[in-house]
Amino acid sequence: MDKVVALTKRRGFIYPSSEIYGGLSGFYDYGPYGVALKRAIRDLWWRHVVELRDDVVGLESTLIMPSEVWAASGHLTNFVDPLRQCTGRCKKRWRADTVKGDKCPECGSEVYLRPETAQGMFVDFKNVINSTRVRVPFGIAQQGRAFRNEITPGNFVFRVREFELMELEYFVKPNEDDGWFDYWRKERMRWYTDVLGVNASRLRQYDHPKASLSHYSKQTTDIEYEFPFGWGELEGIADRTDFDLRVHQEASKTDLTYLDPETNDRYLPWVIEPAVSVDRIFVTLLIDAYDEDVVNEESRVVLRLHPNVAPVQVAIVPLSKKEDLIKVARDVRSSLQGEFRVEYDQTGGHIGRRYRRQDEIGTPFCITVDFETLNDRAVTIRKRDTTEQERVAIAGLTERLTALVAG
Ligand code: ATP
Repeated sequence: MDKVVALTKRRGFIYPSSEIYGGLSGFYDYGPYGVALKRAIRDLWWRHVVELRDDVVGLESTLIMPSEVWAASGHLTNFVDPLRQCTGRCKKRWRADTVKGDKCPECGSEVYLRPETAQGMFVDFKNVINSTRVRVPFGIAQQGRAFRNEITPGNFVFRVREFELMELEYFVKPNEDDGWFDYWRKERMRWYTDVLGVNASRLRQYDHPKASLSHYSKQTTDIEYEFPFGWGELEGIADRTDFDLRVHQEASKTDLTYLDPETNDRYLPWVIEPAVSVDRIFVTLLIDAYDEDVVNEESRVVLRLHPNVAPVQVAIVPLSKKEDLIKVARDVRSSLQGEFRVEYDQTGGHIGRRYRRQDEIGTPFCITVDFETLNDRAVTIRKRDTTEQERVAIAGLTERLTALVAG
């Protein structure tokens, strides 16, 4: 873990928040490569949970919601970690359990920073039903910031106070929850291994015993990863029953039932919820990918990230700063930029040093533009994992890289 933390700082993945003022416990900023990795994780989740399916739609609800939402959902009585933020002048944040009553001690507004995105999807359930053509079974998906006053933040970004959740609420018929619960357990596991390339031997599923279930859950399974500090929850998959729709229906006095157009049955759907944070996937991927080996009698650090998530998928490395060579390298860069996450490295340092740097940030492919390129209109693809090299005509480069990235 220490090595991963050092690497992420050294290479610009993560910085402690407000570091020049001594930092803030449980808060981190994401640097340039960190942002690229986060975006890749977020995009791949959205692609597989929403875009590649025809039964899930997206939503973006607000981070700040009225206190009634959290009273109805049971968060105010069951958890002590929601944060509240004043929306008035002072903008202060308060631990929900330290503030008496609903009002901000400074200026009296009644608002909460959300500890999960799920409630936004339940509160908007009726709007989605009425404005789209979804039919049970269907899902609503949301990605966005969440805030929790974690008492013991730590293990890097495994447990932080401000993080980015990705949650799917998948609504099903009341007696069909068990089947869908199994479906989503398998589906989410497959995403980690096949799409993100996580080592399957370091993943397992843990079924919560009845006694440790959250107040809304009938059954919960965690997808766990074997972290350096032991097995820990990566993602939680919960059968939330009709708990949330029921409590919001009662508290808001709004009919939230669903009318089945085929059977004319009216009921509150049950819901299966896979929930995970980008931050926790982030730390998992870095730990899973970290490796040290020896190449040509030189030791190196290498992040064996799947090409799908690598912050830089293709680095273009011209061998010299000679003008005609640079021109070709820049043309190659322009032709690849629309297709891949590309970095152009013209620093002119020793080529081996530039490869090492790309190995450390997990770049799976380096394109070397050399003097021969001017004659044969071809470049060399250098592969991170094997350091093997392959000569490819510039004309066929995009196609070849597309195949390599896809694996
Ligand atoms: P824990 O028991 O570890 O506090 P939880 O059971 O309260 O977690 P959930 O509410 O199930 O967590 O959260 C769903 C997912 O959100 C988790 O699987 C994890 O990926 C992520 N998550 C929860 N809390 C944090 C946090 N403080 N920092 C980063 N990610 C978090």
